[in-house]
Amino acid sequence: FKKIEIDARAKDELTDMGRTFNHMIDLLKENFDKQKQFVSDASHELKTPLTVITSYAALLKRWGKDRPEVLEEAVNAIESESRRMKDMTNQMLALASGETEETLEVSRVDICKAAEGIAKKLGTAYSRKVNVECCGPAVLNGDAGKLNQLLFILVDNALKYSEEQVEIRIEGHNDSISIQIKDYGIGIPKKDQAAVFERFFRVDKARARKTGGTGLGLSIARAIASAHKGSVSVKSREGAGSVFTVTLPSGEVNV
Ligand code: ADP
Repeated sequence: FKKIEIDARAKDELTDMGRTFNHMIDLLKENFDKQKQFVSDASHELKTPLTVITSYAALLKRWGKDRPEVLEEAVNAIESESRRMKDMTNQMLALASGETEETLEVSRVDICKAAEGIAKKLGTAYSRKVNVECCGPAVLNGDAGKLNQLLFILVDNALKYSEEQVEIRIEGHNDSISIQIKDYGIGIPKKDQAAVFERFFRVDKARARKTGGTGLGLSIARAIASAHKGSVSVKSREGAGSVFTVTLPSGEVNV
């Protein structure tokens, strides 16, 4: 046998390569497990409205012709559950298509203008007051459609989970922009504040059914912020209200 000599440097390099390889395998496994979990959660979440729809359809078949009150209740339930399924599938598609930096269509975005547009649209939809306060220039290079979606999710939630006015405050700093969305609504219990950003998490599932919640909004919001190298966080007190803060770097993404 011919003895193979491996010098010390080559040996170190091989060990490093081995470590990198193991690390890559761990990352792949972690990603794969997350995808598996997502598919399983998604199937479970879609099954619930589907069960409601099929049970009401059966009720309709049996009593719908003779009892108008059953007809009305069943049609309303089928309509609202179908809408929820549609929202959920659209949001799942948004998550699956990956809100990553590579998928951004970058242009100059004026966050104050975007916030004013969303405030007007949602204020009208809810017939409520949404105040926008803008301090300093707040323009960055980002994906206008996705940043609008991020603002929409947070302002829509603020209106959905409160009954009074909602306030948006935007501050432009040297190299970042901060956006605060404040409501005086039901608030989020301390133990749930980290979990609200997880997929499908809802503090109160029964209430979420009535408001049409899917539990995906905040995870999409966080994915959009991180694709822009930013973050979203929450401070909240039960019964007093919540403040969601988005921080976006204003000089990071190049056109
Ligand atoms: P949903 O479609 O249920 O609103 P989200 O992912 O947007 O899903 O939010 C997750 C959960 O976080 C909601 O179901 C609700 O319990 C809670 N939540 C989000 N925003 C607020 C808010 N502004 N005030 C109180 N609770 C909130």
